[in-house]
Amino acid sequence: MSHINSDVSEVHWLLDMFQTVDVGLVVLTIDYKIQVWNGFMENHSGLTPRQVRDRHLFDLFSEIDEEWLRRKCDPVILLKNKAFTIWEQRPYIFKFRNYRPITGSADYMYQNSTIFPITDVRGVVTHLCMIIYDVTDVATSRLELESMNGQLRQLSKTDFLTALNNRGHWEDALTTEFKRLKRSGHRSALLMCDIDHFKRVNDTFGHAAGDAVIKEVAQAVKKNLRETDVAGRYGGEEFAVLLVDTTEDQAMFFAERLRKTVENLAIEYNQQLLRVTVSVGIAEYHSSMSEHRNWIEAADKALYTSKANGRNQVTLCQSAEQLSAG
Ligand code: GH3
Ligand code: MG
Ligand code: MG
Repeated sequence: MSHINSDVSEVHWLLDMFQTVDVGLVVLTIDYKIQVWNGFMENHSGLTPRQVRDRHLFDLFSEIDEEWLRRKCDPVILLKNKAFTIWEQRPYIFKFRNYRPITGSADYMYQNSTIFPITDVRGVVTHLCMIIYDVTDVATSRLELESMNGQLRQLSKTDFLTALNNRGHWEDALTTEFKRLKRSGHRSALLMCDIDHFKRVNDTFGHAAGDAVIKEVAQAVKKNLRETDVAGRYGGEEFAVLLVDTTEDQAMFFAERLRKTVENLAIEYNQQLLRVTVSVGIAEYHSSMSEHRNWIEAADKALYTSKANGRNQVTLCQSAEQLSAG
């Protein structure tokens, strides 16, 4: 009698554990009818074991991709293997709302699962047992970390003052485009732009005023860009713009518009209006250029000509071919 009593109490404990354990436990027939549904599943789905018993899993939970889950379970039934699903593949099997206060950023519970076979005395698979783990905490912290890394990567490419590409990143883009042009025979142009007499701005109004001017000119550059163009802060008050799939004539048009925009800017700083102009140099890519530096030199040379000829003007490098050859 006492033997029977201890058996009964053991079953009682097991049932208690089964109900309160903090993972989902589901037993399915091999045609996916729900047989067992523990407390975790009840609490998160709002459906009692009685409501789900003998119901077809895919009828009750239309969010489950039937084809995908069957593909996972086939080897469990046929080969008696275990199967696993992880949140990186699919965020969840059962779409349960996430109520955890700490990970309030996730709307739904992220889940991993293990699925293993249950056999009868002859070793034939009659049921599947599915264990559902709530991995919302792990998943959300991983996703947050990844997004932070993404932001950091973005920051490492960006110039702090102007939010344009910094020089390193801009030059990477230029070398990529340079290689593309070598293969494709497309036409692209490079524009270098430098603020005229910028030292005077700093000397007269102070460094902070100078910064405000740099920011405004960068804005003017951005405003004139197309989606495929790549602008960077090349130096202190010098900007570089890669005009992709653009001929020198089109680049001249762009540059002239930029020059006029800057000329017409009245930059307000400490109740004063500051005005500046820019000088611009343009060079179209030429196949005789052996490296991307040659292209920069050609645009720089044209910029220097604009400065020498009195500033606030645009010059096209006429002799990119000679320059790179020389
Ligand atoms: P030019 O017309 O020949 O270009 O004359 P310039 O006075 O602009 O001459 P230059 O290009 O040699 O001078 C650039 C100055 O820009 C020197 C440097 O002190 C200043 N500068 C560089 N970076 C910054 C910055 O981030 N903020 C501020 N305020 N000034 C900067
Ligand atoms: Mg300057
Ligand atoms: Mg300069």
